[in-house]
Amino acid sequence: MHQQILIVEDEPKLAALLADYLLQAGFQPVCLGNGLEVIPWLHSHGAVLVLLDLMLPGRDGLEVCREIRGFSAVPIIMVTARVEEVDRLLGLELGADDYICKPFSPREVVARVKAVLRRTVEQPQVEELGLKLDNERYRATWNNRDLELTAVEYNLLQILVDHPGKLFSRGQLMDRIYPDQRVVSDRTIDSHIKKLRKKLHLAAPSYELIHSLYGVGYKFEFPDHRP
Ligand code: CA
Repeated sequence: MHQQILIVEDEPKLAALLADYLLQAGFQPVCLGNGLEVIPWLHSHGAVLVLLDLMLPGRDGLEVCREIRGFSAVPIIMVTARVEEVDRLLGLELGADDYICKPFSPREVVARVKAVLRRTVEQPQVEELGLKLDNERYRATWNNRDLELTAVEYNLLQILVDHPGKLFSRGQLMDRIYPDQRVVSDRTIDSHIKKLRKKLHLAAPSYELIHSLYGVGYKFEFPDHRP
């Protein structure tokens, strides 16, 4: 199994550290340090996943990400130095699959790489977990037990479940839930998500299905282990 992972990172020590961990995890890491090298390299070699730093010499990660999406669906994890950046990046809808903020632990990166690969390669179904969404009745059930969601909670769950692993900012969720008005605050989304998580947790205590990223936004993630 040669799972080639392209690490685009201009700090040589950091690139070497990541490469080391990914190698130990059974991947085949390749490091590039300049944004201009990425596209030609991908065209001639290919990769199962790209770890893409945002600030790069030559060409920045934003441009590179956009260009990759023009010809390839390869999973991309963007790496940024600031958590505030993630919100802006989400708004740009670059087509990245996940975001990691510096500083990070290499172990966390390996876990995220595996998670992204799992969901992009395997694409499990929520029904396998026991979760069912009935769009006509706005009713969500877990193993046939009604979760008793409000309409807003149901809508939030559906948006997240329809895009496993995709991180939505609060603003994006608000736009989808309340398309006509922007009078609601970010906190409104937080409080609906909190209630939704509580109901999911009551029905399925062994799973954490809705994840938040540094308070930037939320995503639905398939659990690592299923019984
Ligand atoms: Ca950099």
